[in-house]
Amino acid sequence: MAKTICIANQKGGVGKTTTSVNLSSALATLGKRVLLIDMDPQGNASSGLGIKRYDTQDANSYHVLIGEKTLTEATHNTSLEKLKICTANPDLVGAEIELVDMPHREYRLKQAVSIVADQYDFVIIDCPPSLGLITLNALNAADSFLVPLQCEYYALEGLSQLLNTAGLIKKSLNPSLHIEGIVLTMFDVRNNLSHQVVTQIKEHFGDKVFNAIIPRNVRLSEAPSHGQSILEYDSKSIGSVRYLELAHEVIARSLPKATEANPVENTNAYKGEVNV
Ligand code: ATP
Ligand code: MG
Repeated sequence: MAKTICIANQKGGVGKTTTSVNLSSALATLGKRVLLIDMDPQGNASSGLGIKRYDTQDANSYHVLIGEKTLTEATHNTSLEKLKICTANPDLVGAEIELVDMPHREYRLKQAVSIVADQYDFVIIDCPPSLGLITLNALNAADSFLVPLQCEYYALEGLSQLLNTAGLIKKSLNPSLHIEGIVLTMFDVRNNLSHQVVTQIKEHFGDKVFNAIIPRNVRLSEAPSHGQSILEYDSKSIGSVRYLELAHEVIARSLPKATEANPVENTNAYKGEVNV
């Protein structure tokens, strides 16, 4: 039965898609069966894995959400044998509006994922930078959510809003939803601010913060234009090594013992506002 992890942060450009693509690829490289679902109309995860724009006209996440296609019909192969992708294209913007009048509008992705869950070890969902119906569907379909945080001054901005939203979803729609962890991205070793952000986030969130910190790495930013994950584009780069480390941690946290020990207290310590 797959573990479904939603990669979410309504702040734009913090590394959601880079993390979705490279974590998925790293998990697949480690032998896990992975389905990456692109839920962002920008379709960056799709193009980042070499799916060309015209290919995303095929069955994609838009068709799944509005119920025109099953997730199986909208799933495509990638260059990695164990990694499949459900693509996205700009049509997905329309789903936000079309869903409003549809029954079970916030459960549609959950229903679709549940049908294929036994075929995968991990389902990773790349969310758009918003907290609309698409992200609501993703958080509702997920067992947990993983938050990429950029190592910059405003890193925490908006995070309490995301945690509050997740808390509300947990209370009303998806009682088992929990935070998988926080991954710090675009860390710059020469920048004092980066170090301060790491210290601050670790104080707030304790061991919810993954040990693997993703550095700012030019190879990571180049890889998508080659339609490859970092593991294929430059497997020896620090970005590749770190995403593999992150994948190992995600696998370790998914083992039954690690899940039981999931310490929610550290999350609550943040302004005392959340209960995720
Ligand atoms: P959006 O909110 O628009 O969906 P996002 O949160 O998915 O954005 P990404 O697209 O992953 O963010 O990253 C934003 C930009 O930063 C991209 O150009 C990406 O290539 C680059 N980037 C991401 N992580 C790194 C990194 N560790 N080092 C260097 N560049 C990075
Ligand atoms: Mg993105």
